[in-house]
Amino acid sequence: MSRSLSELLSTLVAIPSVNPMGGEADLDICFEGRMSDWLCDFFQYLGVPWERVQVSPGRDNVFGLYDSGSSCTLLMDAHQDTVPVAGMTVLPFTADIQGDRMYGRGTCDVKGGMASMLWAFERLVRERPAGAPRVVMSCTCDEEATTLGISHLVNSWSSGGHRFCEKRPDVSVIAEPTLLDVVVAHKGVRRFEIECSGRACHSSDPSQGISAIYRMGSVLSRLEEYARVLPSRVASHPLCGSAALSVGIIRGGSSVNIVPDHCSIEIDRRVVPGEDRSLIIPEIQQCLADLDFEVTFGEPWVDSPPLTDEDNSTLASRLLECVAAVESPHRAIGVPFGTHASRTCAAGVPSVVFGPGSIDQAHTKDEYIELPQLEVAGETLFRVCSDASRLMD
Ligand SMILES: [Zn+2]
Repeated sequence: MSRSLSELLSTLVAIPSVNPMGGEADLDICFEGRMSDWLCDFFQYLGVPWERVQVSPGRDNVFGLYDSGSSCTLLMDAHQDTVPVAGMTVLPFTADIQGDRMYGRGTCDVKGGMASMLWAFERLVRERPAGAPRVVMSCTCDEEATTLGISHLVNSWSSGGHRFCEKRPDVSVIAEPTLLDVVVAHKGVRRFEIECSGRACHSSDPSQGISAIYRMGSVLSRLEEYARVLPSRVASHPLCGSAALSVGIIRGGSSVNIVPDHCSIEIDRRVVPGEDRSLIIPEIQQCLADLDFEVTFGEPWVDSPPLTDEDNSTLASRLLECVAAVESPHRAIGVPFGTHASRTCAAGVPSVVFGPGSIDQAHTKDEYIELPQLEVAGETLFRVCSDASRLMD
């Protein structure tokens, strides 16, 4: 091995790849360009085919290929971006090590997972184990905000857009911090806006107008009841729990002395595996149907499907077998947060989520990772990459 896993992670942490997430972008640390440059150099150094695909100006996906000649393609995906660094109480880009921990932005989410995958990939290239699958190492952009990178990749499978990821892979492992458990299911989410209109007038005589805020009050009490009964209407998932609805934002009115003519809310609707997402908006429309005013629904701006455990048990079993052999038994679990696996799963690719670190440390002001977990993840992923016969049914 030319470098240790913790050296590899230090290198990744020292390359800022902050996703501004809609906020003001400090170009000294924001976007993935520097990370993409480094990844291209890494694959070039390994002597494997690689490709840098522009997703939007200045934002690229980078892929490396280990072509074993196998008919089974394994996709390993890790996102290049991190959340912002404002308010951090540890240095974000110096990868300080204290005891068994490395601190810094992305150590846990998800440069730790990416380092484990790159380390396994490098070892695969050097050792060329017989019977290995074809492995595409995918480093996608923009996971933390609008998931441009994975959407671009998944969409390309129907249009033949990538040189060596031209069709969908047979299985995929997505890096996120899972404490080395194997995530086989998670909820999806749909986010959308609802608007009510009214008629503005001076607040000295409200009878001349129609308050959009009062109208929204009626909408909200129906939604509160809908959210309360939702768990009894939609079958809960044994690993993910119940479907859920939450109203997170309300906006309305322009001045305290004007009856408001406009009010809007933003809804976050969590979807469980097996649930039909196309029914969500018609169901809510139904529960508002007897109101005597018009309610407008906006197009969802987030629409991530759930990850279902219907077809990933062979892949999950193999990962669990490998992690148990390397360290100790772990579990197949469901989690509440969403990941890229929802996109690959929806495209028909059996997918699981696996990585070192805990989601509790992701996005925090003192983000860190336990270094021994990195080593276990790297060794486990190398074993998974070494035997194509154990990955699929
Ligand atoms: Zn992540």
